[in-house]
Amino acid sequence: MMELLEIWRLVNKNSNFDHMLLTDFEHLPSDMWRIYILSHIVKNLYSSRPSTAYHPIIKTFPREATLYTPEILKIHFKWFECWNPTNYGPNQELINFTKWLKVKMNVFCTTNKITFVNRKNSRKVFDKITNKPIEEVLMLYGIECCYFEDKTPQEQIDFVKDSKIMIMAHGSGLTNMIFTHENCEIIEISNRKYWYCDPLCDKHRTKQLSLNESCGTKSPYPNYDYINMCKLLNKHHHEISNVEYTQDENCIRPMDRNILVDSSDLIRSVFQIVKQQKFQVR
Ligand SMILES: [Zn+2]
Repeated sequence: MMELLEIWRLVNKNSNFDHMLLTDFEHLPSDMWRIYILSHIVKNLYSSRPSTAYHPIIKTFPREATLYTPEILKIHFKWFECWNPTNYGPNQELINFTKWLKVKMNVFCTTNKITFVNRKNSRKVFDKITNKPIEEVLMLYGIECCYFEDKTPQEQIDFVKDSKIMIMAHGSGLTNMIFTHENCEIIEISNRKYWYCDPLCDKHRTKQLSLNESCGTKSPYPNYDYINMCKLLNKHHHEISNVEYTQDENCIRPMDRNILVDSSDLIRSVFQIVKQQKFQVR
């Protein structure tokens, strides 16, 4: 997101992006998303991976812009701040950028549906009562559900763009909020509860204590990034923090615990928001 904002600043200065060299291309799912978005802004993208960056053909292209590495971005944009509680307010520059990006990518949003995205490999959300993936319950209430792991970046955008409420567990998929209607509200299922030590203490590391048991440490909760992003984009953010976690022996990071949610509580919150939206003229 911050990289895109940096490009927006340059676009605003009437810079043209014909060629861009990407750094730190890691082939993470979120990287594919990033590159997909960038491909709408820049004509030609190149990777800085040694296998491709020094290819004789690529070498002849002018290096007009270089993307910052995530580490540099963290310093440049005070990224560490983004993970902590802030007093951010709406950022018109960022709001204009997301509007421009949607036009550029032919994304036209409505508020016709409620969407939920589950995760396959970590922070997967289950129904507390049935222990089944929570979408099995949510779908009965007309909430459209999917896994982004099954979708291309364009399919992800198509899935969320008509949301009036977008529900997800904490994770990079939430960045897709930039492709929702300005009135779309975000429900983030957080992993704030039972957040003890970060980095892990010896007792937790050696599994003397399960991740869900207290070691007495109170490390600050580090995942305020989407709460802050909603503040910057002027979106309503709702946090579901009253959760439990599965006891998975293979899970070694508190961050990755699979989440158990009371689906009737969640559905109640969702329809309360819908009711308020109906009376709101924004
Ligand atoms: Zn601990």
